[in-house]
Amino acid sequence: MTATDPRPLTGEPVSLDLLNTRWNVEGVRQDLLTDVDGLAVWLATNGLEDRFAADAGTLRHTLTARDALGALVDAPGDPAATARVDAVLGHGRIRATLTAEGPGEKAEFADPSWGPGWTAARDYLDLLRTAPDRIRACAHEACILHFFDTSRNGTRRWCSMAVCGNRAKASRHYARTKES
Ligand SMILES: [Zn+2]
Repeated sequence: MTATDPRPLTGEPVSLDLLNTRWNVEGVRQDLLTDVDGLAVWLATNGLEDRFAADAGTLRHTLTARDALGALVDAPGDPAATARVDAVLGHGRIRATLTAEGPGEKAEFADPSWGPGWTAARDYLDLLRTAPDRIRACAHEACILHFFDTSRNGTRRWCSMAVCGNRAKASRHYARTKES
């Protein structure tokens, strides 16, 4: 049985969910991926636990993918960051398939320990194709979470209205009260 996912934000596309394995609590950095137990939680949250093992090699390569994606999100289009994500993508390939259910695709890996990291990098390509301007960092200065803005008008600013949205509102209110 897998432990519960302790993170404040889950449910984002898997590429951003990988970045969201790091978050801040009262200014202190938390990290779900410090050991294979945390990796097991992350794999389960993303429905990857049956396909990939939570072991040391997978953890190392998943962290490589996280660093690469984190660098690219911070500096979109940066050649070095782009090359790092591309290098992760080089560890897997897509085989076209045909089954009784119809045409499909299947990911293949020479080394399956790259599977989860590759899956996250591949997901990022989908976001780039869909709406790169909707890949966002939470607007709260103390927050390091990321999300894909699927709101109709594209106006989402916070990882969570309940947490960061209200914190920002409260500090604006506090600033106003102090001035008057
Ligand atoms: Zn936030």
